[in-house]
Amino acid sequence: MAAKKPKPLVAGNWKMNGGKASARELKSLDTKLKKAGRLPCEVLICPPATLIEGFVAKTRGTKIAIGAQDCHSRENGAHTGDIAAEMLKDVGAKYVIVGHSERRADHDEDSKLVRTKAEAAHRAGLTAIVCVGETEAERDQGSTLKVISAQLKGSLGDTFTAKNTVIAYEPVWAIGTGRTPTPQDVAKVHAAIRKRLITRFGDEGASFRILYGGSVKPSNAVELMGVENVNGALVGGASLKAEDFFGIISAYL
Ligand code: PEP
Repeated sequence: MAAKKPKPLVAGNWKMNGGKASARELKSLDTKLKKAGRLPCEVLICPPATLIEGFVAKTRGTKIAIGAQDCHSRENGAHTGDIAAEMLKDVGAKYVIVGHSERRADHDEDSKLVRTKAEAAHRAGLTAIVCVGETEAERDQGSTLKVISAQLKGSLGDTFTAKNTVIAYEPVWAIGTGRTPTPQDVAKVHAAIRKRLITRFGDEGASFRILYGGSVKPSNAVELMGVENVNGALVGGASLKAEDFFGIISAYL
């Protein structure tokens, strides 16, 4: 029997953008989602850590979930400036992004660390969004699938399930650049990720959500979200404005 298609997830990564005044975008998004009626996808916003608690309060009873952009692997301790997954859970976060390419690059995070962060998220009862993606140089060398495969191998552990983990494929060269891979290229990478997940987790592998991320906007969302094995989007720049983000979510309406 064919596995049930996972419910898509459209997630916004606000990165280091936004302050308390950005709550107006949440309000506007909520209004648009309410007007839209039944929603066949989940909607998530991952604002900077300073806004999580306030946004959780503001989105209670709405269709918007709130998540975080990173967590530490430990539950507590002498780690100045870091935030534990348990602390995110405590203020109402539901998801946490781990292994975003900006963290892999800016903070030298490798796949082993990404796995421990995802395991911390699971320990705290959060769903981890594990990001993978090749650089432009790796793509030009024809090593995209090899890179993704190694990142998946290192970033995923045996206790990972379709419920506690979401995969996000984000080609580094497509992030914030306005450039995107062709739908054929996206299909190829997502099919390879699906195959790896099934090899590693058996039937469960068919139920993991695999998001595409990298310059998703309202004008390309229908095409990208329509690709086989694309189960939603991780959106950076276009998630900051309710109108644009709703335009992307509309690919599922
Ligand atoms: C991201 O950083 O996760 C991302 C996808 O950014 P953008 O949509 O701006 O390319």
